[in-house]
Amino acid sequence: MIETTETLLANTENAIANWNLGPAVVDQPGDPYWDKAAQVFGVSLAEAKRRICANCEYYDNTPERLTELETIPLNKFDIYGSQAHRGYCHKLHIICHTTRSCQAWERKDYEIPDDLAPPRDARAMYPNSDMA
Ligand code: SF4
Repeated sequence: MIETTETLLANTENAIANWNLGPAVVDQPGDPYWDKAAQVFGVSLAEAKRRICANCEYYDNTPERLTELETIPLNKFDIYGSQAHRGYCHKLHIICHTTRSCQAWERKDYEIPDDLAPPRDARAMYPNSDMA
């Protein structure tokens, strides 16, 4: 069960103040946020920019979680002005966004399934199309 809107906002303020949650805006060239993130992580600037909520083990964007997030009104931290890119952070208990980061970031492991089927022929999926 997700926290109340008020608690989520308070947690987000705390994350900004104490966990280096950011950046505040998206794709701002030369944003000093990432220089600080690189220092905090002890990695290069390029590597810091790869450590984002989208690939953090605490990031939850399951369909069930997104359904819950849709009940929370948009607020000033929603950089995309919509539900887009929202996810729930199990570490800081906030609504985070794919392109943000914080110093609690942890790598999310990814396993390629052993039984991965080869790509299906698109013509078999769409037999009535006139694709070449
Ligand atoms: S812990 Fe991970 S998912 Fe949570 S705000 Fe930090 S980077 Fe994003």
